[in-house]
Amino acid sequence: MKDKKIYLVPIGKVRREILEDLKENLPLTFPYLFEIGEEIPIPENSWNIKRNQYLSTPFLDKLSKLELEYVFKILGVTEVDLYVPYLNYIFGQAKIRGREALISLARLSNTFYGLPEDLRLLKKRALKEAVHELGHTFGLEHCFNPKCVMFFSNSIKDTDDKEEKFCNRCLSIISRFFI
Ligand SMILES: [Zn+2]
Ligand SMILES: [Zn+2]
Repeated sequence: MKDKKIYLVPIGKVRREILEDLKENLPLTFPYLFEIGEEIPIPENSWNIKRNQYLSTPFLDKLSKLELEYVFKILGVTEVDLYVPYLNYIFGQAKIRGREALISLARLSNTFYGLPEDLRLLKKRALKEAVHELGHTFGLEHCFNPKCVMFFSNSIKDTDDKEEKFCNRCLSIISRFFI
């Protein structure tokens, strides 16, 4: 596993300490080497002026074209607000068993809800959403256990209510893919 890397790739400007925190904590769940990649620009034409949001699919497309040394998975991290056409917003996106995953910090920040910034909370939420999206890339689907990290977050409350860990059922499934 030592030659399989999971890259954290900032898309647009992303606070370094959030990336560092993810790099430090994600290996507690995923037994791989994590590396912070170089920042890539926000994809052109992803901005929707009517919605004041960014369409997430061009972000994943961009990640899919990246060639990185020993790359196994890529988690894109952005601070802009993302959407897909049938949802008001998304905290992140990934393909089941794909290589790429993506999270947005926009709605994980207390400032989005008119509250003062809480970096500790932001890091905790980012970790949960990162584990969730990477979980999808290892083949996990959504879980019905509201405490499990694979529970689908409809709102920030769902994210706060769940833990950054897999339930026993999800853990037993994902462990088989840690090869
Ligand atoms: Zn999901
Ligand atoms: Zn679960």
